[in-house]
Amino acid sequence: MKCTRCRAKAEVHLRAHNAGFCRPCYLGFFRRHVERAIAGEHMCTLDDRVLVAVSGGKDSLALWDVLVELGYRTTGLYVAQGIGGYSTRSQEKVEGFARQRGLALRIVDLADEGPGLAVPDVAASTRRSPCSACGTLKRHVFDEAAVTGGFDVLATGHNLDDEAARLLGNVLRWQVDHLARQRPVLAPTHPKFVRKVKPLFLLSEYETAVYAFMRGIDYVVEECPNSVGATQLVYKDALNRLEAASPGTKLSFVREFLRGGQAAFAAHAAADEERPPNACARCGMPAWGEVCSFCRLVAEVERKRARRSGGPAA
Ligand code: SF4
Ligand SMILES: [Zn+2]
Ligand SMILES: [Zn+2]
Repeated sequence: MKCTRCRAKAEVHLRAHNAGFCRPCYLGFFRRHVERAIAGEHMCTLDDRVLVAVSGGKDSLALWDVLVELGYRTTGLYVAQGIGGYSTRSQEKVEGFARQRGLALRIVDLADEGPGLAVPDVAASTRRSPCSACGTLKRHVFDEAAVTGGFDVLATGHNLDDEAARLLGNVLRWQVDHLARQRPVLAPTHPKFVRKVKPLFLLSEYETAVYAFMRGIDYVVEECPNSVGATQLVYKDALNRLEAASPGTKLSFVREFLRGGQAAFAAHAAADEERPPNACARCGMPAWGEVCSFCRLVAEVERKRARRSGGPAA
């Protein structure tokens, strides 16, 4: 197959776009896609300070790489979750990436936060699933790091496959509130939130992997061990089968939802008068109750650890 743009020998064939590209043209295609997504959705400008949440995987490192290439002012944020060898290896990849390119990187080690908040320890002491503990902890660290560091935007590496799987899950359960908020840009609803953006939302996992490979990005290939059996993976598998039978399915599923259906869900939620969050009584970050979900989790960890060690409950 020949490159759709320059007629040289194509190195990659994208069935969803019915196109093939040689390496230089593919890298240009990928960058243009990201540029267009950022401009079309008003995600950020070249003057903004962008905090990029990086996990060591291909999506977040590809995102960081392309944002730097496009001239954005970025800082990486890595959250060390304490998930054994997986966390050690992913942190090494992130540090290596930043070092090689001379990029600013912030690392937050959950084990050093509050009473010690490594994901496996929090999950064990509260009997929550690791993913539930991890989600609450990471969200809080991202939000807090973004606002205390004076950033304008928080960018994450969610790709088309992530967004399509999330959309399918939300539709299968008709989670109206979630559908109302499923957008590639979330405007802050509180002074202590910053804008959250997903510049790769229309680029598939395969397209991101090809970009990472062509750019020589050294990323952690293994998935988090806690992701085994996640429902999200079942949705991804189902969508991959649909995509194989009908290329372009994922793209139109997500794009057409955002073009048409999403606004209706958002209007419905607005009519339901969504209250803005108040300030958490413990940490001052946005909270929908008296304290935020992070502080509730920390208090639970402290209470249960004190009980186990025979000390007074906090
Ligand atoms: S799979 Fe679960 S524990 Fe692992 S990073 Fe994702 S949310 Fe966290
Ligand atoms: Zn070409
Ligand atoms: Zn709090």
